[in-house]
Amino acid sequence: MSDKTARIVTLPGDGIGPEVCGEAANVLRLVLEQAGRGLELIEKPLGGCALDAGDEAFPAATKEAVLAADAVLLGAVGLPKYDGATGNRRPEKGLLDLRQAMGVFANLRPVRAIDALNDASPLKNHVVKGTDMIVVRELLGGVYFGEPRGIDGDRGFNTMVYTKREVVRVAKVAFEIARGRGKRLLSVDKANVLEVSQLWRQTVTELQQNEYPDIALDHQYVDSAAMDLIRQPTKFDVVVTSNLFGDILTDAGAVLAGSIGLLSSASLGEGPGLYEPIHGSAPDIAGQGIANPLGAIGSVASLLRNSLQMPEEATRVETIIDQALADGHRTADLGGKVTTKEMGDIICQALKA
Ligand code: NAD
Repeated sequence: MSDKTARIVTLPGDGIGPEVCGEAANVLRLVLEQAGRGLELIEKPLGGCALDAGDEAFPAATKEAVLAADAVLLGAVGLPKYDGATGNRRPEKGLLDLRQAMGVFANLRPVRAIDALNDASPLKNHVVKGTDMIVVRELLGGVYFGEPRGIDGDRGFNTMVYTKREVVRVAKVAFEIARGRGKRLLSVDKANVLEVSQLWRQTVTELQQNEYPDIALDHQYVDSAAMDLIRQPTKFDVVVTSNLFGDILTDAGAVLAGSIGLLSSASLGEGPGLYEPIHGSAPDIAGQGIANPLGAIGSVASLLRNSLQMPEEATRVETIIDQALADGHRTADLGGKVTTKEMGDIICQALKA
């Protein structure tokens, strides 16, 4: 383990973002202190709070800080008062600009059904039990970024486009993860209808043949994968897919774990990694101190593993999260009364024990 001081930028953002990010930062502080490693935490605005301050949603000073960081920990962005806003006046535009500036092209979303929470899932217990998958979603391309796009009179249009280079770089991340897990990878596309998916499938197949012959590669159409995700989630291990399909599949996957508040994500590229819970700013519960911070704290575990090369500490945080849930500690989203701060304290106390 390196003893270099870790330079981490936090972007608490809007709504429940600051509430969950605060607890996550406490966990990060404690873990690094216990490991005897220095930590420089730098907080910067992003999203609605930056717009409120008269700045851009992704201010220049925030950009400068994240690009000089070892890793970035994000809460969530989005405020209802900007719902009608367009273009650069949208907090969410700040998030897209942040991802693009950091060049984080691979979004990793683990979905694991924790036994103690199987009852919290709307699916039957025996269906979710044992679910343990990781979805690798391409984050910087596809229809969300493709040009041309726009509204022309009574015609709206977007462009779904991928280059071979974009497919290869995200597929490599997925193949490497598969190599460290069950040595199988499922690539999800819509190659029966879309040419862009045909190129995607051909590129992933060539990559497997040339560089990953030890990984068993399968392909599935996105509509069929969506059905299986609900019907038979335990069959999935590592999945790679495009931006749009990944966005939809991972939200469906979130249901399997019992609450969206539990899920973390890592976005990786060639520079610093970006770590965030998958949920949004949850304006309906913001300011009440009842949000579940475990998705944000799980993101800290991912940050420790992927950006600070501290895998043992990462596993320890994950084990403590599981244990807290097994011990019956529940925030409101899981039907309990534990507050955001109390849940953060429970994790910190367990780390100190
Ligand atoms: P959301 O994830 O904020 O909320 C969906 C539901 O889940 C709400 O009922 C909310 O109360 C609940 N929820 C979410 N996180 C929770 C947590 N940690 N603990 C307990 N309950 C939790 O999604 P939304 O309502 O569609 O979006 C709200 C705002 O967030 C919008 O402005 C949207 O654009 C933005 N958003 C931001 C991100 C991000 O920052 N990465 C992601 C999604 C949505």
